[in-house]
Amino acid sequence: MSKSAARSMASMFQMMSQMIETEKDHLSELDGAIGDGDHGITMSIGFLAINAELSKLDLDRASLSDVMSTAASGFLNAVGASTGPLYATGFRRAAKALAGHDALDLSACTDVIEAISAGIRERGKGQRGDKTMLDVWLPAADAAAHARAENKPVDAYWHDVVTAADNGAAATRSMIATKGRAARVRERSLGHIDPGAASAALLIRVMAEALRPDRRDGA
Ligand SMILES: [Mg+2]
Repeated sequence: MSKSAARSMASMFQMMSQMIETEKDHLSELDGAIGDGDHGITMSIGFLAINAELSKLDLDRASLSDVMSTAASGFLNAVGASTGPLYATGFRRAAKALAGHDALDLSACTDVIEAISAGIRERGKGQRGDKTMLDVWLPAADAAAHARAENKPVDAYWHDVVTAADNGAAATRSMIATKGRAARVRERSLGHIDPGAASAALLIRVMAEALRPDRRDGA
């Protein structure tokens, strides 16, 4: 029997939390180079809170949109500042986009990636080149839209999205921060990968693994 779409989305958030726990120290180290060194802890708190909220949801009755909006409020309640409102806005936007979907096909996945990206961009009023998580989310959303428009098969689709995300994170190394705490150190931020971009690329990697049909079915 295949897992319900809502269950697949909920297990995606569990896998994201596990990934953040594994990479927590590394993310905080990246943040320590250009910020206040708390990014790993912040993301850990946020994703643990998401899963605590999701565990209260009846996944046999919940819609994809319910899972995503629960994630949004869980993250925001746990992480009030900086990253909190950004991901909360992205997830809330994704919840709206999912209202028309009851399956996690590539059309739904594209809507989710585009909505998270658009929500973060509007909330943070940022753009590519600012040395933030948008340097990952915006190219990932572009790659998803292109792959979808070209009707690429699932493997090629996720390969394109993950590659765009990884390249976006790596590119922040040669950028000078103009936003957030890292902007205070400007030139000193050169040569360091932005921690928010690094965690965004990890989340997209997990998304690719969790939302592939072979992973969802028969689990
Ligand atoms: Mg920080």
